[in-house]
Amino acid sequence: MARRFAEPRLVVASHNEGKVVEIADLLAPFSMEAVSAGQLDLPEPEETGDTFLANAILKAETAVRGSGLPCLADDSGLAVEGLNGDPGLYSARWAGPDRDFKVAMDLVQEKLGDNPNRRAYFISVLTLAWPDGHLESFEGRIYGDLVWPPRGDKGFGYDPMFLPDGYDVTFGEMDYAEKQRISHRAVAFQKLIDGCFKEP
Ligand code: IMP
Repeated sequence: MARRFAEPRLVVASHNEGKVVEIADLLAPFSMEAVSAGQLDLPEPEETGDTFLANAILKAETAVRGSGLPCLADDSGLAVEGLNGDPGLYSARWAGPDRDFKVAMDLVQEKLGDNPNRRAYFISVLTLAWPDGHLESFEGRIYGDLVWPPRGDKGFGYDPMFLPDGYDVTFGEMDYAEKQRISHRAVAFQKLIDGCFKEP
C-alpha cells in the first residue's frame, strides 16, 4: 500500500509554471500548500535518466535535497510505435532550443515517412519523494494514432497530431477540461490521489 501524504506543504518540483498551476489545481482539494521549485529557487537538474521513472525520481530527489520538504515531480513524453518509442525521453528536446513543436511534429512526420503504423501513446510518470528517502511513483498512459497534418491550436507540444482512441478530435482540438479529464497526466494523478491523498 502507498504511503499516505500527511504533511502541510508540498513542493511541485517543476520550473514549468503551466505544469505547476495544473498540479496545484489538482491538489487544491487536499488541504496542503503547494509551492513550486521556481518559488524556492531550487536548481533544475539535467534529465540524465534512461527512463521516465528515473527522470521523475531524479527531479523529485533533487528538489528534496534543496528544500528539505516532500516533493512531487513528473516526467512525460510521446512514444511512437513506428519510431521504436521515439521521441520518448527526448520529446522536449526534439523541439530544439526554441521549444518549437512545429519543428518537433515535422520531425516525427518526416521520420515516419509512409510507415502505416501510426500508433503512439503519451506517458506521464509522477514521483512523490519524502525527506526520509521514501518514494511513491505512478504512471499514466493514453493511446491513440498520429494524424497529418496537425489539427487544432489548443493544448501544447505534440497535441495537434495526437488523436486519442475513441475520439474524432485531436488533443489540439479538444477542450482543455476534456483533455484534463482523460490525459496520461490525469490517469497518473488519479492513481497518486487514490494512493497518497485520499482517506483510506
Ligand atoms: P518533460 O517536461 O521533460 O516532462 O517533457 C515533456 C515533453 O513531452 C513536453 O515538452 C512535450 O513535448 C511532451 N508532452 C508531454 N505531455 C504532453 C501533452 O499532454 N501534450 C503534448 N505534448 C506532451
